[in-house]
Amino acid sequence: MDEPWFKDGLRFKCTGCGKCCTGSSGYVFLSPHDIEVMARHCEISVQEFIDLYTRIIDGQLCLLDAPRTDECIFLRDKQCTVYQARPIQCRTFPWWLHTIKNEEAWQAAAHDCEGINHPDAPIIEGNHIAVECMTYVDNLVEQNSEFDFKN
Ligand code: SF4
Repeated sequence: MDEPWFKDGLRFKCTGCGKCCTGSSGYVFLSPHDIEVMARHCEISVQEFIDLYTRIIDGQLCLLDAPRTDECIFLRDKQCTVYQARPIQCRTFPWWLHTIKNEEAWQAAAHDCEGINHPDAPIIEGNHIAVECMTYVDNLVEQNSEFDFKN
């Protein structure tokens, strides 16, 4: 099997700039597992979490933006307030399939995320990137799973 183009690793370190958590162009889609983890973190039921913090886009549940802003509802002063319980989509960034599919896509992503290719960033091993990307892909399936509203 061919080795991936990123086999020698890629440089990334989140600077905490918060840019990926703002802006109207992106959505954080949620799996049932994401909802359960976040609801537990917020100490509310799954149904309460869905009612308070989610909306439906293209038939899928995703996080709300804060009122009158394009920021994620859980962002405060550029900090994620649910970081320990953040969704898999956030957790696996920037190791998304379309971000690492080739070098051109990676360089394009660097225009939006200052942590990509940041001079102070460590080199993340290719094997680790591949595992994270598989988690991302598996999660795409999970995001389309049926929700159990009984919790
Ligand atoms: S845009 Fe990149 S550097 Fe900024 S918060 Fe998001 S992941 Fe971190």
